[in-house]
Amino acid sequence: MSQRPRISVVLPIYKTAPYLRELHRRLVDTLSPLGGDFELLMIDDGSPDGAWAIIGDLAKDDRRIKGIRLSRNFGQHPAICAGFEHAQGEVIVLMDADLQDPPEVIPMLLEQLRGECDVVYTVKAGDGESPLTRLTSRLYHAAVARITRIPVPRGVGTLRLFTRRMLEALLAYPERNVLYGPLMFFVGFEATVVTVDHQPRPGGRSSYSFRRRLALAVDSILSYTDYPHRFLVKFGVLTLALSLVYAVVLVVRYLLASEPLPPGLTLLALLIVVSLGAVMIGLGIVGMYVFRVYQEVLARPRYVKAGTLNIQEP
Ligand code: UDP
Ligand code: MG
Repeated sequence: MSQRPRISVVLPIYKTAPYLRELHRRLVDTLSPLGGDFELLMIDDGSPDGAWAIIGDLAKDDRRIKGIRLSRNFGQHPAICAGFEHAQGEVIVLMDADLQDPPEVIPMLLEQLRGECDVVYTVKAGDGESPLTRLTSRLYHAAVARITRIPVPRGVGTLRLFTRRMLEALLAYPERNVLYGPLMFFVGFEATVVTVDHQPRPGGRSSYSFRRRLALAVDSILSYTDYPHRFLVKFGVLTLALSLVYAVVLVVRYLLASEPLPPGLTLLALLIVVSLGAVMIGLGIVGMYVFRVYQEVLARPRYVKAGTLNIQEP
């Protein structure tokens, strides 16, 4: 008989300690009627609010609670990675630990996972997010979808459920700077999308500021496309072509119509400044890629563990 639990729920935890007990209770209440064959992976991503003590408490009397403590705050995606690498289940559920994703919908999502389908994504309904957050995440998904040509459902949330086959595909991607948002669409497989109600955050604030969301968008675009490069090349070609045409026009007018060359100091200065700006943007973009290449070459671990609970280390 297989030792695998049927369901692994992966919960990255950062500044969500106040909700952990309720989250745990609601998850257990939801999953127990399904046979109780599950594990909850709680990854403390350097949460400064005493989350680890609560996880310890929960894990003490229930071996289905697996705790992983990271050595510092690594970020949501490295924390998710830690959960994925330790998940044993046949089906993986990924969700936020801040009660914005209601655990009660899991059985419904599980029902969708049949036939050829390997992933069930959820699209957020309801007004759980502020208008600015909604707008920026919509823009983010639209940009990722358009530029990477990966069809991302509009308003897709973190809550999702997928097969072990998908998990193993994700773990096979070696990039250090891993972003599961775009990566899961990049991997593919047949997916179903369902709409679920998204709750307002019960307290605290989202750890994603506008700036952090913007950085995430830039990261996704740089990691999954050569679009910025191609844009630069097109821009360069266009600039060159226009200036050549203009030069030819000037010379022809000078030779045929004896028109004097324009006294173009201002024009010249402007052209230099504009092209300098363009060149600097280009260099900056190339620099961003070089930095990413550098980080990948270093091949640093995605996270460092500082402790585990109810996990058998090999
Ligand atoms: N999170 C994390 N590490 C971080 C930031 C966030 O593990 O550095 C987790 C957090 O615990 C939550 C999820 O990522 O489970 C989403 O975070 P948050 O609610 O702050 O973002 P939002 O829901 O606004 O996208
Ligand atoms: Mg949230």
